[in-house]
Amino acid sequence: MTTTILKAPVCKMQNLDNLFIEMTAKNCNQRCKHCYIDFPITKNVKDFIPMEFVQKALKDTSDNIIKCIYLTGAEPMTHPDFNKILRLCLAKTNVCIATNGTFINEKKARFLRKVEDESNNEIIFILSLAHYEENKNDNIRSRGSYRQVIHAIKHLTKYGFNPFLSIMNYYNEPTEILNNNIKDIMNNIGYDINKNCIQINEYHDKSVIPDTTPDTKNINCDCKNGRVLTTNGIYSCLFLANDYRGRCGSDFTDYSKKTILETPYCNTCLKNSRQVFGINLSNFTD
Ligand code: SF4
Ligand code: SF4
Repeated sequence: MTTTILKAPVCKMQNLDNLFIEMTAKNCNQRCKHCYIDFPITKNVKDFIPMEFVQKALKDTSDNIIKCIYLTGAEPMTHPDFNKILRLCLAKTNVCIATNGTFINEKKARFLRKVEDESNNEIIFILSLAHYEENKNDNIRSRGSYRQVIHAIKHLTKYGFNPFLSIMNYYNEPTEILNNNIKDIMNNIGYDINKNCIQINEYHDKSVIPDTTPDTKNINCDCKNGRVLTTNGIYSCLFLANDYRGRCGSDFTDYSKKTILETPYCNTCLKNSRQVFGINLSNFTD
């Protein structure tokens, strides 16, 4: 019998480069097939992170040189105080908004440009797509989501943003084909996307346990240089936010820097040669 727990590698966090803030765990206007969130049956869940939690986390991490704060969800832009939290975080460092793009229209893009211009830091966007063909994308995500992302990209680029695209390779296509087709589509809508801004994540069915132990030297997962702030405390990564297996502590004054890579989600990370949620900011300058 395979003893996966005994063989599980350990990841020790090196620096707190990335601070993920889970703005809401359960509010999103989409229901993607590959989503790792267990959504409640009722849509009316008020689980938005309180502003004081964000303020305290920023204070507790003031000794860290955080490279980027990620506003995530479910869908972060559903938070009623989204604009205030964005400004608060932007005063400290760069902010990356990981969004499905549905809340970004012309007016919002113009507003976000103004907010960034008033700051010394940058606003970065990660938008999600499942495929370069509309029907294949909408089959995984939700009907109309492809067009919504395209509209969001058009608005953001009009106001000088260069959004990242995060692609979950649900159809297991060769990376080069995915990359080239996504690039063509972006070029067609007037976005000359840098190839480094297309992040393809290999899909791994989390019900399948691999029969080999990964090489720990090559681990480059999100828990290596980041932690997640949620309403319930600090967690190792977004996959394990609010999951006891990812719990690191109740606040940033005292939290665990070690993670045992023992969950099925870890197989998705280990299959990818880089982080699934964090982005490489140096890509901006390539
Ligand atoms: S948009 Fe994101 S949070 Fe919402 S269902 Fe899809 S993957 Fe999940
Ligand atoms: S799911 Fe990924 S980021 Fe989270 S603990 Fe496992 S390896 Fe680390």
